[in-house]
Amino acid sequence: MSKLMVSVSGVRGVFGESITPEIALNFATHFGIFRNRGKIVVGRDSRTTGPAMFNAVVSGLLSVGCDVIDLGIVSTPTVLLAVEESDANGGISITASHNSAEWNAMKFVSGNGMFLFPEEADKFIGSLDEPVEYANWDKMGKLYSDSDGTKRHIEKILKISYLDISKIKSKKFKVVIDCVNGAGGVISPLLLEKLGCEVIEINCEPTGHFAHTPEPLKKNLKQLEDAVKIHNADIGFANDPDVDRLAIVSEKGECIGEELSLLLSEKFVLSKVKGDIATNLSSSMASEDIAKIFGVKVHRTKVGEINVGKKMMELNSPIGGEGNGGVICAEVHYTRDAPAGMALILAYLAESEKTVSELANEIPKYYFAKDKLKVDSAKLNQIMAKVPQVFANYKLDKTDGIKILGNKFWIHIRKSGTEPIIRVYVESETTEKSKQICEDTITKLMR
Ligand code: MG
Repeated sequence: MSKLMVSVSGVRGVFGESITPEIALNFATHFGIFRNRGKIVVGRDSRTTGPAMFNAVVSGLLSVGCDVIDLGIVSTPTVLLAVEESDANGGISITASHNSAEWNAMKFVSGNGMFLFPEEADKFIGSLDEPVEYANWDKMGKLYSDSDGTKRHIEKILKISYLDISKIKSKKFKVVIDCVNGAGGVISPLLLEKLGCEVIEINCEPTGHFAHTPEPLKKNLKQLEDAVKIHNADIGFANDPDVDRLAIVSEKGECIGEELSLLLSEKFVLSKVKGDIATNLSSSMASEDIAKIFGVKVHRTKVGEINVGKKMMELNSPIGGEGNGGVICAEVHYTRDAPAGMALILAYLAESEKTVSELANEIPKYYFAKDKLKVDSAKLNQIMAKVPQVFANYKLDKTDGIKILGNKFWIHIRKSGTEPIIRVYVESETTEKSKQICEDTITKLMR
């Protein structure tokens, strides 16, 4: 039986087991009160359990006096943008992101169109056991429908000041898009058409019957790789079910890895707008190489997109994000946005007159290894406490777990937030070296 997972990024579980309409109702009711019973925007991805979750969420919100704006099936970044650009006090995106079809979840949005900051999320979670004071019969909220969220999102992307839309259109790129039958189907093909592309859609029906394992990783994108080759396309894009992560397949039909979505976006945007960039501690060190070309700095944050978005806002960064394919383009908003990422990549292709694989080859190559250490909950802190002694000769960053900074390699060691596990991530110049460092690290910590 799966466990309900409650964290700063929301609440998720397997529908009917750990997440139920009752739980959704309780979270939504308390969220309505937490956001001062104001207007709340709600959107959902294409999951088959979405309508059941949605009706429970709406019921909770209306009963405490919130007006609800229903966006229908939309991407998570569309929900975030709709909150930011309206007078809503918050939003809820009903989606389990890259998790498989039996999962569902809720992500909670603050009035500024960003996810709850960690301290706000803690406060909200702390309020869940408080008794509910329902609104009076004459103060019930009202439900409104807004079917233009996607249209406004696309318009915002097309207005990015440094995008040369006519140049992109003139290239008439042939693009294969794989939305895994998630919410991407309602936005991504439309955006690509607006950019003058010849669009070949695969899995773009938002049915919630995911055509393959939905996380946009190379191992799950064989169909897209094949389609790019068969159609002789310029590029292939994959979205996760709620469209905040982007993976790219080159014109050769090879997935170039989700890290490249961010790195190519950084390189393109920095050539247009100078400014320090932000990314999390576990994303590729190629960001530092790219930043160096443009004379700017990389600021590393805790893992979790809200931490990156918040840092970008402080720094007024033009671009940033997470190495898992989460591109944050500041001119659209400070949250991960796969459609915005696609527009940036196509603009880069158009202006550079190069192919995807040529652009990818220009980015310094590093290789990851990751492993995890299963230990008794009681021993977790003991093992973490060992890390500074084991790596006494290195520079350590303790922003989030412990990151060991070596010469052309790093090791990031973190406790999992949900299980008694220590995760070890390594990046270096070769796969063999990364694997070896990962293995050695685990041996040293277990000693
Ligand atoms: Mg997602």
